[in-house]
Amino acid sequence: MKICMIGTGYVGLVSGACFAELGNQVICTDINKIKIGNLNDCIIPIYEPGLEELVKRNFKQGRLKFSSDISSSIKYSDVIFICVGTPTNKKTNNANLKYVFNVTNTIKNNLNKYKVIVNKSTVPVTTGDKIEKILNTKKNKNKFDVISNPEFLREGEAIRDFMYPDRVVVGTSAKKPNNIMKNIYLPIIKKKNRYFQTSRRAAELIKYASNAYLATKITFINEIANLCDKSNIDVKDISIGMGLDERIGDRFLRAGPGYGGSCFPKDTRALVTTAKKFHTNLSIVKSVIKSNESRNKILCSRIDKIMSNKIKNKKITFLGVTFKAGTDDMRESPALNIIPSLTRKGAMINYYDPSGAKNNFKSKKVKYCKNIKDACNNTDLLIIHTEWNEFKQLNFKKLFKGKNTKVFDMRNLYSLEKMKKSKINYFGIGRGLI
Ligand code: NAD
Repeated sequence: MKICMIGTGYVGLVSGACFAELGNQVICTDINKIKIGNLNDCIIPIYEPGLEELVKRNFKQGRLKFSSDISSSIKYSDVIFICVGTPTNKKTNNANLKYVFNVTNTIKNNLNKYKVIVNKSTVPVTTGDKIEKILNTKKNKNKFDVISNPEFLREGEAIRDFMYPDRVVVGTSAKKPNNIMKNIYLPIIKKKNRYFQTSRRAAELIKYASNAYLATKITFINEIANLCDKSNIDVKDISIGMGLDERIGDRFLRAGPGYGGSCFPKDTRALVTTAKKFHTNLSIVKSVIKSNESRNKILCSRIDKIMSNKIKNKKITFLGVTFKAGTDDMRESPALNIIPSLTRKGAMINYYDPSGAKNNFKSKKVKYCKNIKDACNNTDLLIIHTEWNEFKQLNFKKLFKGKNTKVFDMRNLYSLEKMKKSKINYFGIGRGLI
């Protein structure tokens, strides 16, 4: 198959490279010419484990190409995947579809033969109908089908998720594009019967409903953690005890900072707004959004408490600043909220992140360090913000060099018992207040 990915971000680049690995001829396109230039020099714009090797191999073998000539790439290809961003429209709280519709207009002008137009971006219900309407000119009659194929990959696990998906959802009621899609996905679905064909609108909603459900699970356990803090119970025991029930399962049941990232916050907001358009009140999702928004405040007051309200001039170290481990994605990371609130109170922040330096903190009080040791030098409080493997076996005594540094582990990576035995001044989430 000749495939064109429009938008070479986390989704477009990973799926494009994976489709190439499966033997297709893939062109990844983007309006960002610098990105495309770099990719042609095999410089990968994002941190994603295994991606560099995958891109280099397929690029060298000629199956994967990068181009900023979007029109020619569309003309050359049989299947066009729309993979552009759909961030929150701050005025409406719905998804901003301007990138999707810009791409649609480019496709409209370049339909030289029949093509399947696949929307992989996360979009509100009925967006596929709108794309179809834009493309449906006299000249384009019978030259396309618009289908929905939402993406479920997780950053940090993206290649594995793509190659071994729990499900591939394809939204179309037409036979021809469904057969083409089945063919493309055949190598990764033949082992398990996980290909689910449904209506286009249902596919669009499956993506939002899934993300809203996962966000609900995280928020639920975070609220239970608040109760555990007050009632002196370890929330980890609650997660295990609940998770052993197969109807519940233990995934996404780990207490921590609120959910962040490029998907859950914007998708929960967009879902509520879309539902409103259909005169439907999604009260659970609304509460989840509200609860998650209050999470940073709760964590900040917890830090105040741990530091006995003496934050001014204190050195605070952050290990990890992205929204989760395994990615360099800073979008809606809780650290973007917590760090500025600490600097406003006069704290000096050192941080280290295994994915590399970030320039998101425009403050002289925030400094990037190139390793854990430098970041922890002479610190008063160490905050473990994300769950990278390299943060799981720290030798606190060696790092703190005799100083009575406190540890606030927002991911509950360490055993309370062991910390007590080693006399580390350790605090977790939902494991009893100080
Ligand atoms: P991204 O911001 O990383 O990448 C989007 C890319 O599209 C950018 O490189 C941008 O330059 C490019 N672009 C914008 N307008 C363009 C145009 N007119 N023509 C060509 N390129 C254009 O976005 P992402 O994280 O890959 O997300 C893409 C979509 O997939 C979103 O709807 C998102 O919700 C969804 N999604 C993301 C993830 C994830 O983990 N990031 C997972 C599943 C689904």
